[in-house]
Amino acid sequence: MQTSLLSIKHLVSEAQCYEAIRQLRWQKGVVCPHCDSCETIRRGFDGPDRQLRRYECKPCGRRFDDLTGTALSGHHQPLSTWVLCLYFMGLNLSNAQIAQELDLNKDDVQAMTECLRDGLVKKRIP
Ligand SMILES: [Zn+2]
Repeated sequence: MQTSLLSIKHLVSEAQCYEAIRQLRWQKGVVCPHCDSCETIRRGFDGPDRQLRRYECKPCGRRFDDLTGTALSGHHQPLSTWVLCLYFMGLNLSNAQIAQELDLNKDDVQAMTECLRDGLVKKRIP
């Protein structure tokens, strides 16, 4: 596999990406994805590099995190890969071009872009 000397993946950190996702997602403050309440409490951090912020909802008592209910939860790709994929989609790059930039295979990129086209944040979780 060909590796370029300068990869955009090395220019963004996971921490920056979590920050970007939080800004995108919690524009009006943190809202419970289960009951839409904004009475939430921070419950520390989680994830491989402790970047994922966890919350608990006061009214319904359920816990969630920055990615709960988004297209990004439950995938094995690092968050930076998803954020860059979104960015490249915004630049109208083809799946093949995105795959090359991110050093991924085209099928993975296709699955990711389909997921992201459905919307970053899904409808309320039942
Ligand atoms: Zn709730």
